[in-house]
Amino acid sequence: MTYQKPEGLPEKIQHFIDGKFVDSIGGAEFEVIEPVSNETYIMSASAQKEDVDLAVAAAKRAFDEGPWPKMLARERSRILHKVADIVESRDEQLALIESWDSGLPITQAKGQARRAAENFRFFADLIVAQQDNAFRVPGRQMNYVNRKPIGVAGLITPWNVPFMQESWKLAPALATGNTVVLKPASYTPLSAALWPEIFREAGMPDGVFNLILGSGGVAGDAIVKHPDVPLISFTGDSSTGAMLSTNAAPFLKGLSLELGGKSPSVVFADADLEEALDATVFSVFSLNGERCTAGSRVLVQRDIYDDFVARYAERAKNIVVGLPSDPATEVGALVHPSHFDKVMSYVEIGKSEGRLVAGGGRPEGFPEGNYVAPTVFADVKPDARIFQEEIFGPVVAITPFDTDEEALELANDTKYGLAAYVWTSNLKRAHNFAHGIESGMVWLNSNNVRDLRTPFGGVKASGLGREGGYRSIDFYTTQQSIQITLNEAHSPRFGAGK
Ligand code: NAP
Repeated sequence: MTYQKPEGLPEKIQHFIDGKFVDSIGGAEFEVIEPVSNETYIMSASAQKEDVDLAVAAAKRAFDEGPWPKMLARERSRILHKVADIVESRDEQLALIESWDSGLPITQAKGQARRAAENFRFFADLIVAQQDNAFRVPGRQMNYVNRKPIGVAGLITPWNVPFMQESWKLAPALATGNTVVLKPASYTPLSAALWPEIFREAGMPDGVFNLILGSGGVAGDAIVKHPDVPLISFTGDSSTGAMLSTNAAPFLKGLSLELGGKSPSVVFADADLEEALDATVFSVFSLNGERCTAGSRVLVQRDIYDDFVARYAERAKNIVVGLPSDPATEVGALVHPSHFDKVMSYVEIGKSEGRLVAGGGRPEGFPEGNYVAPTVFADVKPDARIFQEEIFGPVVAITPFDTDEEALELANDTKYGLAAYVWTSNLKRAHNFAHGIESGMVWLNSNNVRDLRTPFGGVKASGLGREGGYRSIDFYTTQQSIQITLNEAHSPRFGAGK
């Protein structure tokens, strides 16, 4: 199979500011590579502070003077449903370019447009159904909540499933009437370049959506430190998130941080082992292992440990590694050579920290490109780096346990706390164990299936704040409480004399 660039790509990727595609003021650009050959296939505009200033000014103008924040919720909702329709109709195109740009297997890139569209539909419906509190003190006072959009939201996103991640922030930020400046990851800017036309076709007023391309250290930093951007929603690495909070602190900005993970999949001997095997393998090797909620530590009860490890390793060895565009491919190429080097360094570290039972390097037949064979280490001790640190690739650490207490201690023994997966047929154990786990989300006998109404986010180093359902609405709005007297004001008459 030859590997072909998708048709119809733009000549270069440009910023989108105030309804227009533009280059950087100073003409700066950066190279974008594709992960199978690691060759540059397109140039992208690279924003400096002055470009960010323009985008923020446009977004601020659209907020202060434009119709968007003041529109009826139903009117905004109609436009967002149109966005969803258009996104869905481009599923094929999106899958091709997402797969090309990020190395994601095409079958897994398909469906991302549906997920992105669903994010828009969900928040388009939610704002129409939105109700706020009113409180009555009979005969005396009425108090009610006046919910308002906040202003310009800065949205900074990572390179794994980029388009979908962007939609997760764009949909609630826009639905609630804010205007936005989006900065996608610089490894994967291609699919973000689809948004301007989508919003334009859907009838979004100019200046409401602005796209800035460029490096995190320059363009991202300028958004975070811009005084006219009161809100930052960030998804990315925990250390970047920590730096961002420091940078945003002097401005007292609203901050939502969705960060890294090292989530446990805990398999008890009484679990449905077929289902547990399918799910724990999928959890860490889908999306090339570049998945924040990957169950990258598998904790297995000793009674079934040897058998489970053998079956797990067998599955990993049989995973089809291949060209991202091949429908048979289950694991494609990692996003970038720097990330490939990082993942490979963990594979080497793992060889002295655990028992290698599958993978352990480049897959056979792939001397070039960012390919890593699905790699499984067994008998990994909790103080191992591959147990503690986020690898973000197709690498898993398996560790045995004897008792529930030991399993819980192992599950909680990292700085992260994003997701957890528990496999057991004992109902009491499942719930009690879930309550003991230090993570923002737990799936019981389930793969990572999202319900958009539930809170999404992590504890410890995995994040701050929650998005999802009404929590997103709360993040992107301010609630002003208004009190009105229904009777006499009854103020003590200071200064009125005797
Ligand atoms: P990253 O390096 O932290 O980058 C994330 C975004 O922040 C990129 O757009 C990046 O720009 C930008 N950035 C970097 N430095 C910045 C700065 N000083 N100021 C402002 N912005 C800055 O993360 P990544 O490697 O792209 O993504 C992988 C990480 O994301 C993993 O840790 C993964 O677990 C996490 N993640 C978490 C979730 C979740 O929901 N919890 C979901 C997906 C991914 P550049 O691209 O130019 O560096």
